[in-house]
This record gives sequence, C-alpha cells and structure tokens, in this order.
Amino acid sequence: MVDLDDLAHTPVLLVALDFDGTLAPLVDVPSEARMGAQARQAIDRLAALPDTHVALVSGRMLADLKLVSEYDPESRLLLAGSHGAQLHLPSGYEAPPLAHPSPEVATFSDDLAEALSALDNVWVERKPYGFVVHTRLATEHGTTHAHAILDGFARDRLHGWRRRGGHDVVEYSERAEGKDGAVHALRAAVGATAVLFAGDDETDEDALRALQPTDLGVRVGGGSTAATLHVADAAEMADLLTRLADLRTRNQSS
Ligand SMILES: [Mg+2]
Repeated sequence: MVDLDDLAHTPVLLVALDFDGTLAPLVDVPSEARMGAQARQAIDRLAALPDTHVALVSGRMLADLKLVSEYDPESRLLLAGSHGAQLHLPSGYEAPPLAHPSPEVATFSDDLAEALSALDNVWVERKPYGFVVHTRLATEHGTTHAHAILDGFARDRLHGWRRRGGHDVVEYSERAEGKDGAVHALRAAVGATAVLFAGDDETDEDALRALQPTDLGVRVGGGSTAATLHVADAAEMADLLTRLADLRTRNQSS
C-alpha cells in the first residue's frame, strides 16, 4: 500500500484536496468556511517545493472557491470548481476551454426555488451548470419535505441531469463532470507520477475510486470509502499534510 513516504519520493507529486470538511471545518454559513493556519501553511509549503503541485478540488463555483480559500492571484495553487467543470490553472499550465451552460439552468433553478419557497431554512443555490438545495439549518421534517419536492421536480424535468448528494446538500447538474474527471485533468496538466487525494464526502468518492496504484486516497471523517487511509477531521488532515511537507522537504534536500 502506498504511504506518505512513497509520495515524498515520487518524481512529480500532485496533492489534490477537497476544501469543505477536508481543509476547512464544516460551518453553518458556507461563505464563512476557512482553512486553519496549519492547513494553510502545509499547502503553501508543499506548493513551493519543486515538482510538487497542490490543487483544491471542490463542488463550489470557482469564484466562491477563490473567496473561501483566500486565493492569492500570485499563488501556484491549481483550482477545480463545480466538481471539475471549471478549472483555474496558473500561467504555464494548459487549461481546457469551458462549455456554456444551457438556458434551462436558470429556468429550472428559479422554478425549484419557487416550489421550495414555503419551507424554512431550505434554499437553492445557483451553480454554473445546475443548482444545489441546502438543508443544513432545516428541521428533519423540512428536509424530508424538501427532498420529496426535489425528487418530484427531478422526475418531471431534470432528465439526464447528474444528481450528487452530500452533507445537507443535494446537487443537480446538467454536466456529468465529477471529481474523478477533475483529478484526471489535473494529473495530466502537471504530469504527476503520483497523486494524494483527500475528501470527506460522497462526491469525493468519485475521485477516490478512480485513483491509480501509485496514488494515496484519504477519507476525512466517517462513511464508507474507497480510500486506504482515514483521518478524523480537518485538524488531523492538516497534521498529515504537514508530515508530507516535512518528508518531501527532507527528501528533496538530501
Ligand atoms: Mg467536502
């Protein structure tokens, strides 16, 4: 089984990380999520090492991911937003062109928001290629009711759209991109010989299942997973990234 030491020795390393729940603790107000100082320092150290690339791979829209990750335009971090439907690569990397969303995205998300408007603490977030229904602050009854409305709406109108569940969210997207595709594109863009991928949610399992034998998958928190390594929470994940930065720094200076 691949371990941190193997990753420290691989010629070109890609460290691809989910943001919410993995680098930043989950919070009630999504716009207030931030990574802790230790996680920040570990990814900055890794990104500064030669032949070492760090990517944030999130379901959030790219603009939103830049905001919560406090993205510095000078940074060498690679970003994949909307589960990989939006890529942001620093200069020197080749990025594939983006597709235009269809007009149904706006119509469907407005109609669904209207259908859910009577429910407290349930809201619809527009995404470039779909929408997310948030229920984190809703009661159990409200959540069940919201899901019933959403399921009916999907049956009637969202034919061929991809459904993704997560912690207190359900997302529908007209685009099939998943984090597996995002990691595939990032791996190719940097020419990685091994990948560390870490995530805490159902959508991260797409990427974890698609990892190769030289890669290491990490699952943050509970739940069934294809990952071979587990950590309890974002704080333990920051410890793991710090250990990897230490090992790779030592290896590259010896
Ligand atoms: Mg997450």
